[in-house]
This record gives sequence, C-alpha cells and structure tokens, in this order.
Amino acid sequence: MQISLPANMSELLNALRELDAGIHKHASWLKELHRSLICSSEGMSADMLDDAHCHCQFGLWYYGQPHPELQGDAGFETIGKLHKAVHDNARVLLLKSREGQMISPGEYNQFMDMALQFKFEIRRIQTNIINQVCVVDHLTGVWNRSSMMHKLEEEHERMARSEQTCCICMMDLDNFKRVNDAHGHPGGDLVLQAATQLLHKRLRKYDSVFRYGGEEFLLCLPSTTLEDAQVLMERLRSELETLPIELKSSGSPIHVSASFGLAMMNPDETVGSTIEQADHALLCAKANGRNKVCIWSMNSVTS
Ligand code: GH3
Ligand code: MG
Ligand code: MG
Repeated sequence: MQISLPANMSELLNALRELDAGIHKHASWLKELHRSLICSSEGMSADMLDDAHCHCQFGLWYYGQPHPELQGDAGFETIGKLHKAVHDNARVLLLKSREGQMISPGEYNQFMDMALQFKFEIRRIQTNIINQVCVVDHLTGVWNRSSMMHKLEEEHERMARSEQTCCICMMDLDNFKRVNDAHGHPGGDLVLQAATQLLHKRLRKYDSVFRYGGEEFLLCLPSTTLEDAQVLMERLRSELETLPIELKSSGSPIHVSASFGLAMMNPDETVGSTIEQADHALLCAKANGRNKVCIWSMNSVTS
C-alpha cells in the first residue's frame, strides 16, 4: 500500500498511446519482412545491418525519445532485448532467403514466437499502466474507491495475523460547498488537491489515502494505535486549518478545515463495521462544531 501520488494521468495515457504506436509500427515491419521472404522481393536492406533493431521505426522511437514514464521500467528493458532478438532472427531468415536456402518450420516458428512474445510484453506494460490509471482518483492522485475495499481487507488480514493495530479515519472537508460557491468548481478542485498534497506530505509511506466520495477521504493507518492516530490526525487537522491556499479567484490565500472520525480495526469485526464506526465519529465531529477529531472507542465517541 502506498500514499505516493501516482504519476500524472495524462502522462501515463501518453505512454499508453506511444506503446500502441510501437505495436503498429512493428506490425508494419513484420508485414514487409513476410513479403520479402515469401515474394523474394528486394528491400529490407537496413535489416541486414548488425544494428538493424536501431533503424526500424520502433527502434528509432525506442532508442530516441521514449516517454519518460516508460524509461527505467523493467518491462521496458525487456521489450528492448526482445526487439533486438527479433531483428537478429529476422536477419538470419533474410540471409537464408537471399542465398536460396530453405527456412525450416522450426526456424520460422522460433522467429514468430519471439515476435509474438515481443508484442505480448508491450501489452503487459500497457495492462500495468491501465491498472494504475483505473485505481487512482484523477483529480487528487490518491487511490479511488474501487480499489479501497480490497486494500482494506488485505490490511485487516495483516493486522489480524501480526496482532498489530490498524486505524481507519474518515476525513471530510468542512463547509466545502461554500468554497465552490465562492470560488467556483475549479477553485474547489484546487482546494481538494491542496488538502491531499498535505496528506501526502505528512502521512507515512505505508499509509493509504482513498477518495471516499466528493470531499471525503478515508485514511488507513497500519501499525498505529488509536492514541497515536489521534495525535497524527490532530496534527493534520491543525496544519490544514493554517494552510494558506492560493486561488486565482481570491486576492488573498483562503483557508479550509476538515473534520476527522477515527476508529480502530478489530480482527473480530468486519472492515465495513470499522468504516461505519469512523463515519459515526465523523458525524459527531461535524455535530460538535466541525474542525475536530473524534474517536470511536468502546462503542462510544470521544473527542
Ligand atoms: P459539511 O461541513 O457538513 O461536510 O458541509 P459541506 O459543504 O462540506 O458538505 P456538502 O455535502 O453539503 O457539500 C459537499 C460539496 O462538495 C458539494 C459538491 O458539489 C462538492 N464536491 C464534490 N466533489 C467535488 C469535486 O470533485 N470538485 C469540487 N470542486 N467540488 C466537489
Ligand atoms: Mg464536507
Ligand atoms: Mg461530505
């Protein structure tokens, strides 16, 4: 589990498009190669070079300026190796064909298996990117709700196994509707981003933040006692209230606050019931004037 803000979504989508283009470029090259082999046509001279893999359209992109999101990815290195192997194999087939030698079914199969593996490997990277894009809230960069229960169940199991404590906190921005009314939806969006950036800065890397809905976030704090979680949330609450948020629509920075409801996971109770308890504590924080941290403990709420 992580809180790190995921890479910019549009950057990831661009990387996805570049990989798609890569598949198409290589399919066109493969068509040329087959024509050359089957029709014994000339051309493909660049494919006889030792570094042919650097000259095809895909290679020009791969060794040129591939998307920064892709560089450094282990799968991206793998497709580079596979791509070179495909070209090395193609050179052998072309040479045999030009010298009038038979290409055995085994040799052809080996080449095609490699070409297909190359394509599957690109698809695998694309699937990883799509998974990343699907589980993240695009506005704030925190996890979205669709992945929440699965991750919370994992944490519930882990805490039961390790006999560690784990807390859940519901955080809801106070009077957020007024922010939208005063500064428009784009202003409200910037406030949501500022609030989640603060969470990102202050929480530990093994904590998780989910956008539960609108201006409501669920924080999962593994290996944390209720007392420690209270101190942590109190600090967050006070930092958020003093955080100056610059908006174009406002001459001076604006300030917002949030209410927090805390509850501790229990190995004998479902994740759902802990969420309900945290939600109940949040409602009490709202009812008690907002900008407060309330705690569900021993079947009652305290602040
Ligand atoms: P309370 O203190 O009781 O929580 O009051 P509130 O105004 O924060 O709560 P309310 O539920 O009345 O209003 C929440 C508002 O959040 C209404 C909705 O338009 C706004 N909202 C939800 N999602 C987004 C979003 O993605 N961007 C923006 N700008 N506003 C959003
Ligand atoms: Mg609210
Ligand atoms: Mg709300």
